[in-house]
Amino acid sequence: LIQLYLPLNFLGFVYREIKQSLTDMESMFRLLRENAEIEDAPGAGPLALQGGEVRFEAVSFGYNPDRRILGGVDFTVPAGKTLAIVGPSGAGKSTISRLLFRFYDVDEGRIVIDGADIRDVTQSSLRAAIGIVPQDTVLFNDTIRYNIAYGRPGASQDEIEAAARLARIDDFVQSLPQGYDTRVGERGLKLSGGEKQRVAIARTILKQPAILIFDEATSALDTQTEKEIQESLREVSRNRTTLIVAHRLSTVVDADEIVVLEHGRIVERGRHARLLEADGRYAAMWRRQQEAQTLQRRLATELMGA
Ligand code: ADP
Ligand code: MG
Repeated sequence: LIQLYLPLNFLGFVYREIKQSLTDMESMFRLLRENAEIEDAPGAGPLALQGGEVRFEAVSFGYNPDRRILGGVDFTVPAGKTLAIVGPSGAGKSTISRLLFRFYDVDEGRIVIDGADIRDVTQSSLRAAIGIVPQDTVLFNDTIRYNIAYGRPGASQDEIEAAARLARIDDFVQSLPQGYDTRVGERGLKLSGGEKQRVAIARTILKQPAILIFDEATSALDTQTEKEIQESLREVSRNRTTLIVAHRLSTVVDADEIVVLEHGRIVERGRHARLLEADGRYAAMWRRQQEAQTLQRRLATELMGA
């Protein structure tokens, strides 16, 4: 049995490796294609950034012509304010952040930053103004230092470490034999989802963009780390226009506006207290999460007692 098991196990290993390479290739081609589709308008100038006001005006979009993902999405995030986007999985939340970064162009309506349609400015200036912490961070096959400094090439080691401390990844990096020179990615050290996300946060802190997009990962972080990171994020997002895609509603309580997205449409909007009062979709989501948390705590206490 052992003889049989070993080769099978080995085959499993090879299979996983191949599958991983294919996934990497897929995402590379996807990126290439996405970049190829979007071009700077003739004579496009750099984005004239003031406070970083973000406005979606009746935005409709589908990845394929036959399937609309967003329909008539309207919102304004005044300079320096925070908008939270909540809603079920598949509602189109991440799509909103991809459109703002102009990975794709809208089908109808427009996206405007400080008065300029984002299709009228250079992509380089647009992307320099925006920092994204995505749901799944893909790291470069390079050192941790490179992966953080990518947010601002030419940053000093002190600045890199300060950003890493705010993102709660510095201790971990210092504990590695090669520290910031540790190579990560497919051929280097494999980081956990939470660690990758913290590298992405450090990168964004270093970049200090006027506009911040944070697409929360559902399960990558444990509760304690999440709390710590939320604090650093609050710090970074102060005075920056911030869009948060939130899975845990505890992060949106302080947002200046919350929009509830369902099937690509905004079905409710307002601040936390007002939405609870309204007793609609948001209030129901909130109650469900509170119940789930209570249940989790009770379970934990019982397990500890046993
Ligand atoms: P959310 O972030 O709210 O979970 P997304 O914005 O990621 O939702 O996705 C919205 C819808 O768009 C989903 O139905 C998803 O399957 C689809 N979708 C996402 N990315 C692509 C893509 N690259 N091509 C085609 N469909 C996509
Ligand atoms: Mg998403």
